[in-house]
Amino acid sequence: MTRRAGLSSEETARYSRHIILPEIGLEGQERLKASRVLVLGAGGLGSPVALYLAAAGVGTIGLADFDKVEAHNLQRQILHGTSDVGTPKTASGRRRLSEINPHVGVVEHVDGVRPENAVELFAAYDLVVDGTDNFPTRYLNTDAAFLARRPLVYGSIFKFEGQVTVFDPHAGTPCYRCLFPEPPPPGSVPNCGEAGVLGALCGVVGSIQAMEAIKRLAGVPGGLDGRLLVIDALGMQFRTLKLRKDPDCPLCGARAAIRAIDPARYAEGCAPINHAVGVGATGPAPAEVNVPFEIDVAEAARLAGSGAARILDVREPFELQICRVAGSAHIPMAQVPRNLDQIPRDAHVLVLCHHGGRSARVTQFLRQNGYDKVSNIAGGVDAWARQIEPGMQRY
Ligand SMILES: [Zn+2]
Repeated sequence: MTRRAGLSSEETARYSRHIILPEIGLEGQERLKASRVLVLGAGGLGSPVALYLAAAGVGTIGLADFDKVEAHNLQRQILHGTSDVGTPKTASGRRRLSEINPHVGVVEHVDGVRPENAVELFAAYDLVVDGTDNFPTRYLNTDAAFLARRPLVYGSIFKFEGQVTVFDPHAGTPCYRCLFPEPPPPGSVPNCGEAGVLGALCGVVGSIQAMEAIKRLAGVPGGLDGRLLVIDALGMQFRTLKLRKDPDCPLCGARAAIRAIDPARYAEGCAPINHAVGVGATGPAPAEVNVPFEIDVAEAARLAGSGAARILDVREPFELQICRVAGSAHIPMAQVPRNLDQIPRDAHVLVLCHHGGRSARVTQFLRQNGYDKVSNIAGGVDAWARQIEPGMQRY
């Protein structure tokens, strides 16, 4: 990118520590001012990304997020403060970024990224930084960035591991689908809410994403294009792996099948996890199933309260210490297969976890093992706390 925008004397003073770096200089700083960066997700990764981009003087920052700030976000989403709880993240983020640097324009995209708007939205920016944390969205972002011909700075977190790279398939480096052509089956990988995440690791990964974006926009060499940085926060090691472009990649390969955003490709994965899991081909025939695969918390409370069903909580022990539904039985998900004798076959069993993902997998597993009166509780104990017991501790 060669576009530049002149700096005022105030801006020159503000960015002087950048400008005296020979690799950036006045020219690099003017390039940053002329740049437009779209940050996907104003959460754990998007927070440090947006904060550093604003401080660095990136001229226009787009924030795409449809969520509101919740108390359990504040452990890692440092763009937002306690008084922002209940506010849309884009609004909270815009206020904070404007306070850090009033010379930066912040654009709120409160609808987030959808299949219908993704390519057009990405094309309005020079670069996209992905801070989202679920697979359907990650694939949509990957495809849209390729179709809009925009580089994508990728970051992800899982427990104590972080990963960062830059995908720019039009410049000859791989895309995300070169590495992982299709999403994993829904529910097979827990999201952050279920797996837990070290807040400070979001800061490390997001800051590196911001650094990659700034280097690239200012014309500083040495980007992570074609290399995956893997951060192990437990062993405290950083490694880089060389990434290979897949000539048969469904997105950027020579005979690519993906030529446009087809909403159906992401709709299935975006649907609540239970719809995609279903009863499964190896389960009993539908006619044998006389209870629904999934029920909502109101129905679960009614059934459990009347004694018509029992709740089986499959969360981990430490999660039960935070909150639990009175009268529920407890078997952590991993121990369910060897504790089948503790689960009654003749009673209606309602499986509960934090958000409904793990419990959907256990429900599917039990049905495949001959339990035909098992239902998943949609939304998990979090929905229970919001709708049934407002005093219950959420996390
Ligand atoms: Zn590819």
